[in-house]
Amino acid sequence: MHRYHPKKELAPRDIVARAIDNELKKRGDDCVYLDIRHRPARYIRKRFPEIYKKCLEFGIDITKKPIPVVPAAHYFCGGVKVNEWGETNLPGLFAVGEVSYTGLHGANRLASNSLLECVVYANRAAQKARLYLNDPLPKSRMPDWDPGKTRDPDDQVVVSQYWDEMRRVLWNYVGIERSDERLVRALRRSELINKEIQEYCWDYVVTPELLEMRNVALLGDLVVRSALARHESRGLHYNRDHPKRNDHLWRKTTTIVKNRVSGRAPVIRFESL
Ligand SMILES: Cc1cc2nc3c(=O)[nH]c(=O)nc-3n(C[C@H](O)[C@H](O)[C@H](O)COP(=O)(O)OP(=O)(O)OC[C@H]3O[C@@H](n4cnc5c(N)ncnc54)[C@H](O)[C@@H]3O)c2cc1C
Repeated sequence: MHRYHPKKELAPRDIVARAIDNELKKRGDDCVYLDIRHRPARYIRKRFPEIYKKCLEFGIDITKKPIPVVPAAHYFCGGVKVNEWGETNLPGLFAVGEVSYTGLHGANRLASNSLLECVVYANRAAQKARLYLNDPLPKSRMPDWDPGKTRDPDDQVVVSQYWDEMRRVLWNYVGIERSDERLVRALRRSELINKEIQEYCWDYVVTPELLEMRNVALLGDLVVRSALARHESRGLHYNRDHPKRNDHLWRKTTTIVKNRVSGRAPVIRFESL
């Protein structure tokens, strides 16, 4: 860590995460190790009782062995855009918590703000949703789902294959440290996966697993596109080809909407804060 920050592993979280990610990619390793064996065993057990217990459950005594570490889940912000009541632009549809974009977090999240956001927005959404009890929305004019000539899927291997592919593409190319080249590769793959899933949906009876997979692949694709469009680094988005933050050009929120022309790529807009 001395090559990344004078405070080594006590550097700010995004710097530590990027340093770990960089080492893993350079060496092709599955994890790095956090080593506290230079401290007396009694001190470790007293100072870190929960970590000590948790690691023991996995067969790692941290007084004798280093702890395998990977960075996780701290490189994504954003979601379905809502107003201050948790309402989306579809009347009657609310989005709260991890799925939503309220604008409270910006490009990064401060510790413990996410749970507070969940509680505040759940409360506000409930207040607003109650109004529909007295004044229900008109019944939807959506036609019933017509399965047409679709067949029953013969096995689940296709869905799990797409899951694996999408997860790997996003982890390797769109994770903590991005680059233009990695993002272009990711886009090529995500376009292909999305196209294949779309075709699969036409041929086979839709199941909750298939729809969930389709949503995951679509969301992954949108993340790749918005990352590619932003030529700077800010908060959780770090692109080594554009490593500096640029407030002059990029102090903006990325919004992606569906293209009204069928088959065309979604439309990306940047909205000033
Ligand atoms: C590693 C990590 C550390 C974090 N640390 C903090 C912190 O210190 N402080 C803080 O404020 N926030 C923290 N967060 C963020 C916070 O935990 C989340 O923002 C919050 O839990 C989101 O709540 P949620 O209800 O929207 O989603 P979730 O907690 O993800 O709940 C969604 C639920 O829906 C269920 N579900 C999914 N699909 C279906 C389905 N098809 N049918 C039925 N159920 C389904 C899931 O099983 C899950 O129980 C952390 C997040 C992570 C990943």
